[in-house]
Amino acid sequence: MTIIVSNTTNANIKVSVNCIYCKEQYIFEVNLDKFRAYQYGALKAQDAFDNLTREQRELFISGTCPNCWNEIFKNDDDENDN
Ligand SMILES: [Zn+2]
Repeated sequence: MTIIVSNTTNANIKVSVNCIYCKEQYIFEVNLDKFRAYQYGALKAQDAFDNLTREQRELFISGTCPNCWNEIFKNDDDENDN
């Protein structure tokens, strides 16, 4: 995980995360204080990154991007979304 310290708005930072499977790079803007709290274990991912989707948070938790997550965990009996 790479932290891009770019002084964007307020106390937000940009964090670059590469998927451990497809190596795709994703960049998220997160709150610096919450991000630190997450690193120290004071906040869970869903609280620290409440501005991200569940799939995006998974990149922080397991290093798996949404595409790969779907590939790995797709069910045989999934619904007819496509
Ligand atoms: Zn991936």
